[in-house]
Amino acid sequence: MTMQKTPLLMSRLLDRGAWIAPDEEVVTLTGGGTHRQTYADTRRRAGQLANGLLDLGIAFGDRVASFMWNGWRHLELYQAVPSIGAVLHTVNIRLGAGDLEYIINHAEDRIIFVDEDLLPILEPLAPAIPRVERFVVCGEPGAERWETSLPNAIDYEDFIGGYGDAIEWPEFDENAPLGLCYTSGTTGNPKGVMYTHRSTYLHTMAEAMTDTMGLSATDCACAVVPMFHAMGWGLPFAAAMLGAKQAMPHRFMAPEPLTGLIASEGVTVSAGVPTIWQGVRAHLEAEPERYDLSALDRLVCGGSAPPVSLIRWYWDVHRIEMIHAWGMTEMNPLGTVSRRIAKRSHLALDEDARFANVAKTGLLSPGLEMKIVDEEFRPVRQDGKSLGELLVRGPWVCSEYYHDPQPEKFRDGWLVTGDIAAIDAERYLVIADRSKDLVKSGGEWISSVDLENHIAGLEGVAQAAVVAQPHPKWDERPVALVVPAPGAELSEGGVLAHCAKQFAKWQIPDDVLFRDTLPLTATGKLDKKAVRAELEAEGYRLPDLRGEAGAPAPVPAFASTPAPARTA
Ligand code: ADP
Repeated sequence: MTMQKTPLLMSRLLDRGAWIAPDEEVVTLTGGGTHRQTYADTRRRAGQLANGLLDLGIAFGDRVASFMWNGWRHLELYQAVPSIGAVLHTVNIRLGAGDLEYIINHAEDRIIFVDEDLLPILEPLAPAIPRVERFVVCGEPGAERWETSLPNAIDYEDFIGGYGDAIEWPEFDENAPLGLCYTSGTTGNPKGVMYTHRSTYLHTMAEAMTDTMGLSATDCACAVVPMFHAMGWGLPFAAAMLGAKQAMPHRFMAPEPLTGLIASEGVTVSAGVPTIWQGVRAHLEAEPERYDLSALDRLVCGGSAPPVSLIRWYWDVHRIEMIHAWGMTEMNPLGTVSRRIAKRSHLALDEDARFANVAKTGLLSPGLEMKIVDEEFRPVRQDGKSLGELLVRGPWVCSEYYHDPQPEKFRDGWLVTGDIAAIDAERYLVIADRSKDLVKSGGEWISSVDLENHIAGLEGVAQAAVVAQPHPKWDERPVALVVPAPGAELSEGGVLAHCAKQFAKWQIPDDVLFRDTLPLTATGKLDKKAVRAELEAEGYRLPDLRGEAGAPAPVPAFASTPAPARTA
């Protein structure tokens, strides 16, 4: 052995930012304006918090939960909890009561840190989560003191105020757990993914790379993606490591306050799901002169596929590069990214070809491996057309769910993602769909995502969802649900004619339904499960099946289709 075996601990990376850039700011939107503190303050307060947690008897590996928006205190938890060897369980505040009860009990959280405005969600749950010993309430600065029916509640400032900031972070094995995040993407109960120090350390390094998010100490980073969702895609960690300024929206994620924050704090890079950037775009179109966005350079967009029309709009109108990212809670979460110029050969490409690349799911992050397999787990051809199940492996890919074995999701050291995808000749990953959202029609697959993104490109369309509906002859047929932009005049014929420009006849939806809104998941993506459930509750039938007394019962999905190995 010739080199030191220093463990890859996040305490080392996070202390670096505070050390090299002690005066750099962490700015958070509040009800009354902004809260501002420096990295030196953050490090001091994280020390106080850590001493408080140790004094309460929080031991190595114990779960400490947060029920919070993105903000300075959440960042203090991100630093203090893992640095003492405890596990930060970031609870998704948007889950329903049943899921919340399940995951808090399943994780055996000992303490929950909760933002004051979220108390009404937790309070009714208290009798169902008896193992939680303490609630620490993060009050709104300048507001009257909170009140709560939660037992054993203490104010965050009172809690940390009782402790000194001096602490030496302990050294332990880099494979120690660091953070716990539950995903609701699978069927059944939410599944826990336990990130380790090693996985998060390597992920942070890879994410910051020039060809990934291109993060720098000179950036001002704004994670709109919640810190309770896959660790805010790692952005709070990476920015803290670099000593980059951070701007945090807290609960103010509507387009107006968010765009205001981005403009006033000089945000250079931000990250969120496509629905966020669609909302910001609509706001900017309504008030084109209001904001100075000249500092904003990159928008990381992932969680679902952004339409190419959106990617183009930000570049054409504002010269902002949308970085398309794919990942999963199961992988810390970054898997691939797609940038305007991702290879030296792309320097010679014209803009159309560059955007066609950005719209693909992306190039593999260094450190990971991926492959596409058929139903027998044999690799398929990498020709951009041959679809199959996507498998991934690497140091930030989970090897099991937390206390919940799901052997069909893990195979020979690979994670079975549940995504149906192809790899093209340029080695781009191109996701067609989630296996459960693909439309299987007459033995062929139709990508709901491709149709949605194409429909979203039609003038006057605010949002589109495409879901499968059962059909006795074809197994399934696609149906489009469209939310028109305010004041837009859209017709079924217009939407279908637009689809016919790009898709074959058999791929075009059988029906177009106009809606005022579409349901979103807890992470802000289109909730296709809910869309399908709504249609079922309405007794929806495809146009050619309506009025058919005694129409044959629909054939169960997958009955005659070459479905890949199914996951969940
Ligand atoms: P949830 O299922 O709760 O939303 P995740 O964020 O872990 O949790 O979801 C990961 C899944 O989201 C991926 O497996 C994939 O299906 C989808 N996804 C993420 N990014 C993209 C993208 N850029 N394009 C298409 N699908 C994506």
